[in-house]
Amino acid sequence: MLETLHRIVKEVNAAPDLGEALELIVTRVKKAVGADVCSVYLTDFERREHVLRATEGLQSAAVGKVRLPLHRGLIGLVCERAEPVNVADAPDHRHYLFAHETGETRYHGFLGVPIIQNRRVLGVLVVRQIEQRTFDDSEVTFLFTLAAQLAGAITHAQASGELVAMEGVAPPTRFLQGRAGAPGVALGTAVVVYPPADLDAVPDRKAEDPEQEEEDFRTAVAAVVEDLMALEDRVEDSLPAEDRALFDAWLMMLGSDSLIGKTVERIMAGDWAAGALRQTIEEHAKVFDGMDDVYLRERASDVRDLGRRILMHLQQERSGPVDYPEDTILVGDEVSAMQLADVPMERLAGLVSAKGASFSHVAILARAMGVPAVMGVSDLPVGRVDGRFLISDGYRGRIYVSPAPSVRTEYLRLAEEDRALSAELEATRDLPPETSDGVSVRLYLNTGLVSEMSTLGSDEAAGVGLYRTEVPFMVRDRFPSEEAQTANYRNVLETFAPRPVTIRTLDIGGDKPLPYFPVNESNPFLGWRGIRISLDHPEIFLTQVRAVLRAAVGLDNLQLLLPMISNVSEVDDSLLLIQRAHDELIEEGHGVKMPRVGVMIEVPAAVYQVEALARRVDFLSVGTNDLTQYLLAVDRNNSHVAEIYDDLHPAVLRALIQVVEGGRQFHREVSVCGEMAGSPAAAVLLLGMGVENLSMSASSLLRVKWVIHSISRARARELLQAALRCEKAAEVRALLSNALEEIGLGGLVRAGK
Ligand code: PEP
Ligand code: MG
Repeated sequence: MLETLHRIVKEVNAAPDLGEALELIVTRVKKAVGADVCSVYLTDFERREHVLRATEGLQSAAVGKVRLPLHRGLIGLVCERAEPVNVADAPDHRHYLFAHETGETRYHGFLGVPIIQNRRVLGVLVVRQIEQRTFDDSEVTFLFTLAAQLAGAITHAQASGELVAMEGVAPPTRFLQGRAGAPGVALGTAVVVYPPADLDAVPDRKAEDPEQEEEDFRTAVAAVVEDLMALEDRVEDSLPAEDRALFDAWLMMLGSDSLIGKTVERIMAGDWAAGALRQTIEEHAKVFDGMDDVYLRERASDVRDLGRRILMHLQQERSGPVDYPEDTILVGDEVSAMQLADVPMERLAGLVSAKGASFSHVAILARAMGVPAVMGVSDLPVGRVDGRFLISDGYRGRIYVSPAPSVRTEYLRLAEEDRALSAELEATRDLPPETSDGVSVRLYLNTGLVSEMSTLGSDEAAGVGLYRTEVPFMVRDRFPSEEAQTANYRNVLETFAPRPVTIRTLDIGGDKPLPYFPVNESNPFLGWRGIRISLDHPEIFLTQVRAVLRAAVGLDNLQLLLPMISNVSEVDDSLLLIQRAHDELIEEGHGVKMPRVGVMIEVPAAVYQVEALARRVDFLSVGTNDLTQYLLAVDRNNSHVAEIYDDLHPAVLRALIQVVEGGRQFHREVSVCGEMAGSPAAAVLLLGMGVENLSMSASSLLRVKWVIHSISRARARELLQAALRCEKAAEVRALLSNALEEIGLGGLVRAGK
């Protein structure tokens, strides 16, 4: 059963549109459970009806016509209860509703299971039997398990199919929902980025020059033929003849009309070579996938492997720079910070990622660059949007693909409003960051995610509150040398001198892997990360610390920050190593000084030991991004749980208060450098707690300054007290939104959850 289940899900996932996906489901399921009928009803939420969308066994003419009221009949019952309904004699059931279009009088056995996504019943999967039949437990659980996995595939296929159906028809006003990643709205052209040699990720694209595409494709195939022949020669002596026959089979496939001819046909019809190849390979592999013979079924993976090899050569042939149009909206299944940084700033309008959430580093980078971003749009048919006109709404986390003119007009108006707000914000540029009752707050910059960004916002910031050092390590093919690091750190220290610059030691691991230092873990955020790696590899840590200390010679504006601290020994050990690096450098004749050292409070254990930590270091810096993820046990990158990731959660607020108290007790400066510090609403609460050092992305500086300027510390304290009486993050958010509306800053909080 498990194998059948996997096969069905895989096939459905590969279906190009909803119609095909549903056809596959009903055919395969009917066969798997030996039923007389299998049907899928999908919910039409607007008309409050269940619509028969596919059937194997009932009259096919009824598809699209049979519409059942939302809460009536056995289908309605499944939907209402959101659980399976298994009835031996359906017509005898009090909820039974006769639908004559389907000619279903003859059917008695009934099993319906709900198809649910994000707590919503999207439809019902039903099997029926002419005789009375109670489906047994294994059949119920089979359908149940299948339906649970199908919801995602169904919404995906639906979105994908709609895009195709839309060609030449009235453009839609419908949107795809994701998560707000970075505020702002973007209107532009989608450019899909995808990982290399991944056939499934290749987007649809029009061929600009079909002849050239065909030539490139044939060259790539010839290269694979050559590779395979060379490989065959090499294994000639070690492989028995029957295994070597496989090579002949592969070479035959590479010469076959079904593979080559079909792909060229697609190219001639207007597809680019990579897209044409993807479709042909998928079509071919599917034939094998559907075979009962295990051996033949395995051939599907050979076909896919050949496809990947051809693609690799195709991509090698064209590894030139990407041509980004003006107003590029970068789209990908999982866009990385590197891919984002690759787009020239003046051409980048927005970012859309099917995976990831608001606190993924790529979203943080987008905020830093002031680029609207929508994350976690899991239904987005990434492969189908390349070159299309997109609107991405980074406030509400929505995407519109080739939308109706009315939507476009509305968003042009919103973009205009944003520009007006930015102009208003400009007016605050020269104001001191001081509350209306005279409390001065220091606003620092978070930087380092992309080095070119380091001068943005550098004039109004009090310094750098968080310089992330991972990127220079990520863009190389080996650890950077001490010299290279020194030059890099010197650059940022000099840019801001004499203002302080807080350089954080390497925080790799989690969602920041190094290509040349692979860490494969099933739970990377709870694994080998940050200071843990640095202490296990003192040579990496010492090189970095030496580089930082050398970079600060003569500037004296360096502060060092230790990430992911979860116990005091990590601090003690790090301090010893920092001292050692310092002493070595002095011995070598460098005029270095011991810097101020601080720890990041981003693991709950550090909150509860804040006094012991404060005693050991010069300052504390709260990383609310990780602190929230660890306190709430919510992966900051996972869009499935993004709804419950919330830095206004009452538990986070209480933890922050505890940190502020701990710091105060030992007269240690406490700053906040997570994204929370850059949220105008949350900044009010931090101000109420007594946090006077906030570090944020350049794009947040003026917004936060404006709110600080418009409020008194006394009012911030009142609001904090009111927030502490709330039991839910949503209540805290509403409280803050109202408070900002009252002082005329409603426009600043549009980017709410
Ligand atoms: C944090 O965790 O809040 C933080 C600032 O660090 P990063 O986002 O780089 O993990
Ligand atoms: Mg962190």
